[in-house]
Amino acid sequence: MPKPLSQLHTTHHDGLVHHPLGSASYVFRDSFIPYLSSYCKQKTIKLRVGTQPNGSPHIGTVVTFATAFAIARRLREYLSAGKNHDDDDEISVSVCVHFVDTAPSTFETAREVIDGVTYQKSLRSTREFGTHISPFSQLLDELSSAFEVPHEVLTQDELLDDRRMVGVVRDVVLQRDALSPAFDTGAETEAGRKFGIRSQCPVKDCGRADKWGQRTVYDGTVITFFCGIHGAYTVDLHADEDVKRLEFNTPLRTLIRTEYFLADPKVSWIQVTGADYAGFYQEQLLWRHVSDPKAVLIVYAPLVVDWAGSKISKSLYVRHGAYEYLRRTDMDYMLSFEGLMARRGSAISRLFDEVLHWIDKPETFFRSYSVVYLHRIMSGNEVLAPEREPKNSPRWFGSTLAGIHLWAVVALVFLMGVLQRISTSVV
Ligand SMILES: [Zn+2]
Repeated sequence: MPKPLSQLHTTHHDGLVHHPLGSASYVFRDSFIPYLSSYCKQKTIKLRVGTQPNGSPHIGTVVTFATAFAIARRLREYLSAGKNHDDDDEISVSVCVHFVDTAPSTFETAREVIDGVTYQKSLRSTREFGTHISPFSQLLDELSSAFEVPHEVLTQDELLDDRRMVGVVRDVVLQRDALSPAFDTGAETEAGRKFGIRSQCPVKDCGRADKWGQRTVYDGTVITFFCGIHGAYTVDLHADEDVKRLEFNTPLRTLIRTEYFLADPKVSWIQVTGADYAGFYQEQLLWRHVSDPKAVLIVYAPLVVDWAGSKISKSLYVRHGAYEYLRRTDMDYMLSFEGLMARRGSAISRLFDEVLHWIDKPETFFRSYSVVYLHRIMSGNEVLAPEREPKNSPRWFGSTLAGIHLWAVVALVFLMGVLQRISTSVV
């Protein structure tokens, strides 16, 4: 039986957008790009964004990616200004997109429980990864073209295919006792709490991994994993090829990646991620543990939120039928890249222009944006803010209107007072 449609509610606004200054928007409103550039000591600068490609990129992913490209564009322009073009040491700024293909597959068959242990298969092992690459490639080509910034893509395998990265992984795993419980999986067995590390069963076409590490055993540098079908297999941290078979939960992956970036002798890395990772999460799971916090540079892209201020979630829409109101109000095109591209006019170009505007006006950058706001932008409807008021509409116009309203209210109150006195005197 189909679920009954929920009731639609209406809210009202005046179409005016405010950017009150505070915290980062106050401090960096005139110096965002120069500040970032002061931390980029290498001639090669890469802005890193990551994604778990388990569906077509939605508006939140597009905004985060566009933020990286927009910063790259402005950073290159800033650093190149005044430089001699014949200079061999010309600065290179690009975007590096990291596909976390070791993330859990969304296929029904990818998750099972065997003897009380939860097993999962990754996007890579179910080959689901390949089914979602096309819209990502198209999006990245659009971004590279629009912002005139080159990009490269990396899978988890390719990221681990570096001796320096293998060393970082080994160091972090060997510190697991000190790092727990911040990085445990939440599972607690007789052998103690479990660290957020997995490894797929190496048997051909199996690929199961103990999701919570319930049966994983650590013995010095050797980790023994257990497949519910094929039994035990081991990874030795001294063997580079073995280390490449490890997979990590999100906080551990972030810590390992950050350690790798901050010690890179050739590249200045700027990580760009959604603002939902800012704050308490990052303070407790990254800043507390990273070896050189002063060398880390992370920029948080504005979060795209629903009517209530919650992060827009593609998986809620796909799996749980959320956001019915977006479909009924013709705004569900924002939930897939195909929908964004198919939108009338040049919705995607307007979105890219909007993101570049945030970088040019940093006071507009350190905040969230609602789907309603972005829909208005992509539909070509004007959004009024002090810096965007049309030139032929003087700034005093709005305040004059407000003044007229105020005087109307004062006059009405005065009139009511007079009427009341008249009626009192009659009685
Ligand atoms: Zn197996």
